[in-house]
Amino acid sequence: MLRRFTPLAILFTFTGFIFAVRSQEFRPNLHRSRREITAARPERIGSIQVPPGFPFKIALFADLHFGENSWTAWGPQQDIKSVGVMSTVLDQEHPDFVIYLGDVITANNIPTKNASLYWEQAISPTRARRIPWASVFGNHDDMPFVWPLEWFSTSGVPPVQCPQNISYPGYKDCSFRGTTRLELMKYEVDHNTLSHSKCGPGVLWPSVSNYVLRISLTSDPDTAVAYMYFLDSGGGSYPEVISNAQVEWFNRTVQEHNPDARVPELMFWHIPSQDYHHAAADLSQHKTCVGSMFAEKVAAQEAEMGIMDLLERRSSVMALFVGHNHGLDWCCPYKKLWLCYARHTGYGGYGSWARGARILEITQHPFALKSWIRMENGTVHSEVILSSS
Ligand SMILES: [Zn+2]
Repeated sequence: MLRRFTPLAILFTFTGFIFAVRSQEFRPNLHRSRREITAARPERIGSIQVPPGFPFKIALFADLHFGENSWTAWGPQQDIKSVGVMSTVLDQEHPDFVIYLGDVITANNIPTKNASLYWEQAISPTRARRIPWASVFGNHDDMPFVWPLEWFSTSGVPPVQCPQNISYPGYKDCSFRGTTRLELMKYEVDHNTLSHSKCGPGVLWPSVSNYVLRISLTSDPDTAVAYMYFLDSGGGSYPEVISNAQVEWFNRTVQEHNPDARVPELMFWHIPSQDYHHAAADLSQHKTCVGSMFAEKVAAQEAEMGIMDLLERRSSVMALFVGHNHGLDWCCPYKKLWLCYARHTGYGGYGSWARGARILEITQHPFALKSWIRMENGTVHSEVILSSS
């Protein structure tokens, strides 16, 4: 929903924007990361090592939607509130890792050339606490800018977008062409040593956030405790789909690293698969689901190219986590795995449901996966064991 803006609001937004540019450690890219996109090289697996005997805790931040209505006073205020939600969750849960589960920004509302400035705001609470993280793309992260109709009324285009007669470094960054998935991911990876995100194999283009992280113990780094797979479920600049090429890449990678399916695998992407419809198709099935919100219909990907068939055949795949539906936060058993939603974390995006974050906790010997939802007000609900169905 668009909000009316006033000259005072524009001044406030403009001042805030200059501050944001100056405080984001914006520096030229003098050296390129070795983790940049590769076309035909074998998959180089990322690794996270945890001390033995301790649970490994992950916070999922979904649908933050930074930059929504960025030209108004209202938009930046939502971003401040989203930082507040993340800060509360991080300070109460003390996770070892954070996953940004897509729709980190609302690119269709961001008219600056470098939308990474908003992405930076989203990762700042995690980075400030020295917590490592990984991210995947949602459908809004590289969505083309949508010109507000009201800009063509007497009020015109707000001067914050293309300031004239003002000398400031962002002037040449005024643009409406959007920031691509590759640019966003390269910016995150190049500027953050705590980021475990990767631009995936180039052969999977136009999808980008496709990679795997291995969790292992510091005492035995070569033995995996679990694998976390991140897939780009599309949307924005191309259809909402996990392609056949991604399915084949996933199949090749699991055969290479976990051929006998002995190590548990967890899946993360943004837009639910159509199987989410079946998992919670009617109220009677909710008895086996654990969650607090069943407030809307599943908004699934446009097509299925085989990823769910593959996951359902692999006994090692424990659970799949998605965002996208802000009014759903359930986990439902489905076939041999759990299908789970995160919890709407950001104040951007549709819906006025209370904000929170899904937490995952992995323990070893024996392997167990537990989850619950931590709300902004500090309460906890929907605890569920996901390592058995
Ligand atoms: Zn969203």
